[in-house]
Amino acid sequence: MSNSLEELRRIFTSTSLGQMAYHTWAQQARHERFFNIARLFEALSAAKQARAEHAFRSLGEVGSTSENVEWALAGLEPEAIATGPVTATSPLTRELLRAAQVALQQGRDLTADELGDIVVCRTCGELRVGAVSGACPICGTVLEAHRSFRVIEAMGVLGPHAIMAFLEKSEQAIRTLADGLNEGLLSHQLSDSQPSFKELVGHLIDVDTVFRSRAWLLLETDQPELAPGHPPRLDAAKGYRDQPIEAILGEFGQSRRQTLNLLRGLTNAAWHRTGHHELYGTINLLHQGNWAVSHERQHLIELAQIRHDLLHTDLPGSVVSDVSEGE
Ligand SMILES: [Zn+2]
Repeated sequence: MSNSLEELRRIFTSTSLGQMAYHTWAQQARHERFFNIARLFEALSAAKQARAEHAFRSLGEVGSTSENVEWALAGLEPEAIATGPVTATSPLTRELLRAAQVALQQGRDLTADELGDIVVCRTCGELRVGAVSGACPICGTVLEAHRSFRVIEAMGVLGPHAIMAFLEKSEQAIRTLADGLNEGLLSHQLSDSQPSFKELVGHLIDVDTVFRSRAWLLLETDQPELAPGHPPRLDAAKGYRDQPIEAILGEFGQSRRQTLNLLRGLTNAAWHRTGHHELYGTINLLHQGNWAVSHERQHLIELAQIRHDLLHTDLPGSVVSDVSEGE
C-alpha cells in the first residue's frame, strides 16, 4: 500500500467518520431491537476502524507512548481534506445494507440466514461473511487475528457468572429506585408516550417469564423450536398501572427467584445447549441470558431516569450495575 500522504490523510479522515457513523447506527438498531442489523453495523464499523488505524500508522502519527502523549497534548489537528462518501463504500457493504433495507421495509430484522457470521480483518479491515476460512485474501493476516461478529453472539458475550450476578441484583435495584415514590408518582406517565414506573416493572415480569420458559425448553428438551412470537411489548403491561407497587415488586421477586432457581449451578455444557429461533438461527442459553440482561439493563436505566425526573434528586451511587463482558 503506497499511498501518497494526501491520500492517506483522506482515508484516515473518511474511515474515522465512517466508523463512528456505523457504530452509532448500531446502537440505535440495538435500541430498536434489530439485533442482526446492529451486528452488521458493528462489523462495518470495525472494518472502518481497522482501515483508519492502518492509515494513521502509515502517516507516521504513531510513536512510542511517551511521544504519543506529547502529540496528544499538542492537539491533533486533522487536515481539512474533502473525504468523499464515508459509508456504503464497497459493493459487499452496499449489498448487505440493501438486504437490511428490504428487511426493514417488511418491518423486521435481518434473519441469521440472511446475515451469517461476519469476520473483519484487524489489519486491513477486509470484511467477509458466511462460512469463512483461511487468512485474509488482501493482506494475509491469519483468521485467528480477525474480529468476529457471530450470529450466536449478537445479544452480547456475557458468561454465566456475569449473567447470574446481574439477574440476582435487579430486584433490590428496583426496590431502591421505587423507595420514596408514592403510588401516584409510580403510576404517573411523564408523557403520553412514556410508560409509568409500574408499567416498566410489570413489563420486566412479563419478559422474565418468557425468558424462563425459553430457558426451560433449552434445558429440558432437545433442539427446541423457540416460539417465533415476539416477547411481550411494553404496552401489554398497562394493567400494572393500577396495582399497588408492593404487589408488583412481590410478583417480580417471585418470578426472578424461579428463574434463578432454574439457572443456578448449571454446568458450562448446559449453558451451551442449543435451540432454533426463526430470526436468530441456532442460539443457546447464553444467547438468551445475554438477551435477558441487555433488555433488563436498558429498562432499569429508564427506571432510574424516571425516578430522577419525578423527584429531581439522585441516589448516592449508581443503582444499576454495569456489566463486564467475558466473565
Ligand atoms: Zn487483511
